[in-house]
Amino acid sequence: MLFAMAIGGIVSFPLPTLFADESSDSKAGWLTRESQHLRLTSDVDDPALLDDLVRSFDDAVPQWLAFWNVPESQAAQWKIQAYLMQNVDAFRQSGAVPDYLPRFEHGYATPNTIWILYQDTPYYNRHLVLHEGIHSLAIELFGAGGPSWYMEGTAELLALHRDRVPAPSRKPRLGVPGNAGVLAQSMDAFTINQLPRNRLDTPGWGRYKMVARQREAGTQPTLKSVLKLPTQLNGKVEAYTWCWAAASLFTQAPESRDAFLKAARRGSDQTEAFTSEFYRDVAAEWPVLSARWRLMLHDLDYGFDWSRHQVQLSTADPRANGSVIQMNVTPDQSWQSVGVWFPQGAKLRFAAEGRCHVTPDWISEPAGITLEYNRGSPLGQLQVCVLPIATPAGKTIPPLDIRPVIPRADVAAFTASPSSTKDTPVTGSQLVEITEPSWVLLRINLPAGHSPVEATTPPQEAYQVQITPSR
Ligand SMILES: [Zn+2]
Repeated sequence: MLFAMAIGGIVSFPLPTLFADESSDSKAGWLTRESQHLRLTSDVDDPALLDDLVRSFDDAVPQWLAFWNVPESQAAQWKIQAYLMQNVDAFRQSGAVPDYLPRFEHGYATPNTIWILYQDTPYYNRHLVLHEGIHSLAIELFGAGGPSWYMEGTAELLALHRDRVPAPSRKPRLGVPGNAGVLAQSMDAFTINQLPRNRLDTPGWGRYKMVARQREAGTQPTLKSVLKLPTQLNGKVEAYTWCWAAASLFTQAPESRDAFLKAARRGSDQTEAFTSEFYRDVAAEWPVLSARWRLMLHDLDYGFDWSRHQVQLSTADPRANGSVIQMNVTPDQSWQSVGVWFPQGAKLRFAAEGRCHVTPDWISEPAGITLEYNRGSPLGQLQVCVLPIATPAGKTIPPLDIRPVIPRADVAAFTASPSSTKDTPVTGSQLVEITEPSWVLLRINLPAGHSPVEATTPPQEAYQVQITPSR
């Protein structure tokens, strides 16, 4: 410690080579940074990165405690040792990586120490330090983090963060002069439990690419099969992604939020009994959770924002009584439920009218804009999703039944018809047949990143839709 320099409360090595073997972290060139909750030792010669990591860790701890509703005083004395390693063998030889540790791909956590393999991007180094730190804190607070799906889901949820960087400059909003400058200067605070808006938010994380690949391949798992993932995930990025997505859903859905948070207290139970109890707590609402899972995985991508995915779904929704339904579909939310469920054999005919902005410059009608596309369908297109109430059997979720309400051919036929006027709604030619008890949802096709902040849509804009059941 003779040569250690205290700089603003941060202890800085290196020690001279002469003393290289004096203690486990006194190798030449190793740096140590220390903060309230973390002592970080690394062979990465990047003091700015290490400073950032300990600062981010300290910023994250109170946010984790708030998530769990644990008073800050309970972790005031909590502090762990972290090793961020490039040359793992050197850490092994020094004893900093003990022989009893199993092999690990990215990181490993014990009650008092975490080990992280150095990653290419600052984001992903931070992500992994936070991820392993959450495991250690869960051990400290609850004895352990529960079974794998829960432990890894929680760690990924609370490690996914938004760095303190200037918010991406936003295009000036038409008709709102002077607003753009203020937005461009705003800084994002360091916040955990964030969904990435774009690739730049989470370089190196890359989970959405895998989600899209499995969506295209039709291999996305059912919610129940995530809960059955084995105890050892073996660092598989797929498994981690599904655990994270499930944790995100369970903490966002009103049906499961309390049960998910309550389960953390039972973290020392890492057996199937933990999962059974959680499942029992949410079983009555499982069809809704399972439906939300299917909707989420269909849309999960950069810009996905839970505030736009507050779908009103309930197992207590009334059965459709056969009368005509009128509803407004607005661009501020993604899927919007008709509010009733339809029995097998119901046939629905749709008519729609109205206009709304889908970009600052483009106004769409229910058929959508064929000059701009989102996920292969015209931007602004009114879409219907027939969503079965029954939870899918099997291990993977079937693709959602999504189709345009008013295909363009119907618009062409309508316009050509002598009886059409500008103000009559266009009636769709298709009859949507319900083949099993289902919810029916409508939405305006917009990209995942379409947020109210960036939209110029006046709040009153909507498509007016009429749904006529027929026998
Ligand atoms: Zn983990």
